[in-house]
Amino acid sequence: MAAKEKFIQVAIDVPMDQLFDYLPNDQILKIGQYVKVPFGRRQIIGIICSISSATDVPREKLKKILSAEEEIIFDKNLFKLLHFVSNYYHHPIGQTIMSVVPSRIKQAKGQIKKAEKIYEATNKLNLEWIEELPKRKVRLRKLAQALILNSIRDSELNNFVSNGRECIQELVSLEVVIASKWTPKINQAETPPELNNEQKKVLSALIKKHDNVAWLIHGITGSGKTEIYLQLLNKFVNKDQSQVLILVPEINLTPQLEARFKLRFPDKTLVTLHSHLSDIERLDNWRKAKSGEAKIIIGTRLAVFTPFLNLKLIIIDEEHDGSFKQYEGLRYHARDVAMMRAKYENIPIVLGTATPALETWFNAKGEFAKYSYLELTNRAVKNAKLPIIHTIPVGDKYGPIISDIIIKAIKSRIERHEQVLIFINRRGYAPVLVCSNCSWSANCERCSTRLVVHLKTKRLRCHHCGYDTTIPMQCMDCGNTDLHPLGLGTQKIEQSLNQLFPKANILRVDRDTTRTKDALDQLYQRMNKREIDILVGTQMLAKGHDFPNLSLVVVIDADNALYSSDFRAPERLFSQLMQVAGRAGRAEIKGEVLIQTAFPNHPVYEALKANNFSEFAKSLLEERKQMQLSPFSFNALLNVEAKSLDNSLAFSHMALEKANKFKSSVTLFGPVRPIMERLKGFERHQIFLQAKSRSELQNLLKPWIKELRSHPMSNRVKWSIDVDPIEF
Ligand code: ADP
Ligand code: ZN
Ligand code: ZN
Repeated sequence: MAAKEKFIQVAIDVPMDQLFDYLPNDQILKIGQYVKVPFGRRQIIGIICSISSATDVPREKLKKILSAEEEIIFDKNLFKLLHFVSNYYHHPIGQTIMSVVPSRIKQAKGQIKKAEKIYEATNKLNLEWIEELPKRKVRLRKLAQALILNSIRDSELNNFVSNGRECIQELVSLEVVIASKWTPKINQAETPPELNNEQKKVLSALIKKHDNVAWLIHGITGSGKTEIYLQLLNKFVNKDQSQVLILVPEINLTPQLEARFKLRFPDKTLVTLHSHLSDIERLDNWRKAKSGEAKIIIGTRLAVFTPFLNLKLIIIDEEHDGSFKQYEGLRYHARDVAMMRAKYENIPIVLGTATPALETWFNAKGEFAKYSYLELTNRAVKNAKLPIIHTIPVGDKYGPIISDIIIKAIKSRIERHEQVLIFINRRGYAPVLVCSNCSWSANCERCSTRLVVHLKTKRLRCHHCGYDTTIPMQCMDCGNTDLHPLGLGTQKIEQSLNQLFPKANILRVDRDTTRTKDALDQLYQRMNKREIDILVGTQMLAKGHDFPNLSLVVVIDADNALYSSDFRAPERLFSQLMQVAGRAGRAEIKGEVLIQTAFPNHPVYEALKANNFSEFAKSLLEERKQMQLSPFSFNALLNVEAKSLDNSLAFSHMALEKANKFKSSVTLFGPVRPIMERLKGFERHQIFLQAKSRSELQNLLKPWIKELRSHPMSNRVKWSIDVDPIEF
């Protein structure tokens, strides 16, 4: 009997929610291999997802696979995860799979990186030998001279001469240099500190279980969470072949963490995976994870999809951080995907943070807690205390106001040669008018936005529709005449600081000034050498890094988050201010945090001052319960945008109508304009979905999205579905 014919299902990067059938070529084909296939008039790379003995496509329409690589890209569990992700986030399966494949492979440039070589001079190489070289061989002479002093690695060649590889080959062929495989020197492992009692308790709980459990380590900044990760890793990576994945929210946090882990585990291969790597480095590191060579993998959100040989533990540092969410293409949340991954792999997962996301908190402390909760309430370094937090009422009526109390506090630090961090909330650098007595703010009558104060012309203006009016004399709600423009720009603050402290060294940093790793490193060095007195910056300074001489943190304008229409704004503000407060007083110097605010007694600030996360979380949860918001409901967001307002609105209405036809019990809100109504010239609308259960939500989304995809109007707009949205 002839062998039964086989059909190969291939994932391809096209916006259709299906796999594509091909006929095999004469190679041995396996699930997970990457293949070149004809698609339309193109030839593209795809991944074999399954092999079956049946197909729905007429036999004569099937094309043959052109070629297959031996390398297996994904294993069974990872496929399972990717299918789950495609289903859950409603992203086409082929695009889901291909979006996690390293780009070199997609470009069919997946060659294996050669092992690095080191070049060493033989005793034939000396100055006389170099003298005999023709004078015009300048580069060859230069490299040869360098080699007399030191041996040189592949990656260092170009530091000595341009096109160093060519020169070195010539020296090798002249037999004055020999090449050998380079292996890194292994330092002695750093001795770990003894854990304090709180840490010991946490660690001993963590090492008890090895199957699928989720832990939340809730520990204040500096309480020694990272030290616990290190000692926990020790129990894993020393076992044969075990691998550990550590996810961090920001690339900026990887070098610091990488250095700490390398000191502790010098003999274990550690790789990082993030977008600052070159495509070649990324592929190389990804392969080291896949082969099992790398034991410790530190990466940002996409690393959650890395193939591993033997993954045994996942750690998510700063789990509350919004950067774990991807807002483009495949809109996933890496923490939630990691949860699923840990389940499929049947391994433990550890979430660490000083300010848990409310959803995480609910899962650890709520009625139906699924996670195990562990707590660290003290700073790990002896005598280091959490900084004291005060609120300072805003000063003058108008203008760039830094209150006198704050000015005095800054002055005293500068005199004592301590450092000050001025933290500015990026969102809302445009000043708006608020009442210092109640929470009224001047809003546009035609848009869901606040009016912006224009001090020069003494007018209020809507930046969305152009509405323009005079500045009112009193609050429209309570009649109070004390109205403040709130929200200052970084530059303005820097200006007034320069006037106030002409002798101080003031440095303003933002994403633009510290884009590269070098720039950041330089900043830390300058801070440590005390070349800077006052550092002015945004969110990016709030995370992770220690400034030992920093004793004062000033928060100038955080209030705008208090009246945002995004229901997560207070939660984010709390966590951000907690993080930034954590920068002060890390070592011996006592830290202080001053928050300048028009609402000194607002619950968010009260909770911060009392360092009482659990009370704060409790009150937020009560609010959410009343409003039936996450985690008490399951949400999705349809985002629609178009050049014309009419198209955006018409599509949204059509979508709403279609959804209503399904007679599901999911509540639909909208269409409404998001907080940013217009973005990059596009008019935007949203429909918000609120369901009592995940399955209810998914049961509506699936058929609804299918109809929207095939609707003729969908060509006139850009639209997307965001499941579990965290920003509006
Ligand atoms: P977190 O990750 O919670 O911010 P870290 O693990 O970075 O905290 O610890 C904060 C500081 O305390 C670090 O400098 C760390 O080296 C130190 N540290 C942590 N645990 C101990 C310990 N048991 N004994 C002494 N120092 C510790
Ligand atoms: Zn008022
Ligand atoms: Zn308006």
